[in-house]
Amino acid sequence: MHFTLHLTSDCNLRCKYCYTPPIKSKEMSSEVSKRSIDFITKTSPENAGVIFFGGEPLLKKDLIIQTVEYAKSLEKKGKAKFHYKVTTNGLLLDEEFLEYSLKNSIYMGISIDGIKEAHDYHRKNAKGKGSFDRVIQKAKLLLQYQPYSNVLMVVSPETVEYFYDSVVFLLDFGFKYIISSLNYAGNWNDEKLNILKKQYKKISKLYEKLTLKEHKFYFSPFEKKLASHIMGNKYKDYECHFGVRQISISPNGDIFPWVQFVKYDGSTESYKIGDIRKGIDHKKQSYLYRKSRNLQDICKNCALRERCDNKCACIKFQTTGEIDKVSPILCGHERMIIPIVDKLGEKLYKKGSSVFMQKHYNNYYPLISFFQDMEEEIILRTKDLIMKKNGGKNET
Ligand code: SF4
Ligand code: SF4
Repeated sequence: MHFTLHLTSDCNLRCKYCYTPPIKSKEMSSEVSKRSIDFITKTSPENAGVIFFGGEPLLKKDLIIQTVEYAKSLEKKGKAKFHYKVTTNGLLLDEEFLEYSLKNSIYMGISIDGIKEAHDYHRKNAKGKGSFDRVIQKAKLLLQYQPYSNVLMVVSPETVEYFYDSVVFLLDFGFKYIISSLNYAGNWNDEKLNILKKQYKKISKLYEKLTLKEHKFYFSPFEKKLASHIMGNKYKDYECHFGVRQISISPNGDIFPWVQFVKYDGSTESYKIGDIRKGIDHKKQSYLYRKSRNLQDICKNCALRERCDNKCACIKFQTTGEIDKVSPILCGHERMIIPIVDKLGEKLYKKGSSVFMQKHYNNYYPLISFFQDMEEEIILRTKDLIMKKNGGKNET
């Protein structure tokens, strides 16, 4: 199970598409973070993912360190097993924190929307200045420490024309795991959706070319749809399980089913499913979960219903304000992307690409891939250490 700790409502950016625009007043105290770890220990002692989130979580680096140290003390007593992630805009990354993260296996996901034109359109600071130049410096540093970090990109109607160029840029930059999502709440019209379709087709050609060259990389929208075809019924395990597999803990310790529901204006109070002191209200949790998975009549006879994101409560909430109503943009996007990805999968299957076959048909691949990544990371770190020792000369 994954637990997202919202450490602060504040942020050093003012992204135009942010669904929780930053405010200064809500900060998690060290008391609440400790009680959250106690609650997590009770709820999921075998293996709990702790995700540090904001606003911008690196505004609270000390609290992250305190929380991890407390969690480690419980691990030493054999009470629980944790792993950690930070979702950050990257601007406050520094070597000291990256060293600590490396030692304690805290994995980073950094938000970059792609090329400068795409990134700076939305991701500006309080003075209206784009953050691309700074985030790119930080991304270089991050990849030195964690070459397999995720990069999180958001595609909006205003930046959709740069989608393909942005994916190329991020891959060339060195990222191998691209998590891309649409800004569903954006102002999508037919013209923008046509551009999106063309961009997906271009990205699909790139995906095919790189996969046939046996490059190992991950592009989330395609991987998900490929898996939804190949895995059949098992794909259900990977779908959104609203408020069940992943929950969010607000700065004051309230529990919500997902990050988007931690708001500071009271508008999502009806989605609160408990708090860290009293625990989860299982009746409400289960009611919201079942509601989020209700299929609407228009979906019941649709051939895509088992592969569609129609069960994603967050997309539905973002676009309709309800967790059980699909929107035209969600439906249009699914009808667009599934055929593109199916065609791609068919080609790669026929051509017998070994990366493709491993990734999608070998149940042990996630484990094999993890060890491959670790092996490469160790080689890179060793080379780096030798270079430092040799005063910058690469004599390996
Ligand atoms: S960096 Fe994240 S939290 Fe901060 S304004 Fe942008 S989207 Fe919102
Ligand atoms: S493609 Fe549209 S109609 Fe079909 S299942 Fe998805 S949301 Fe429902």
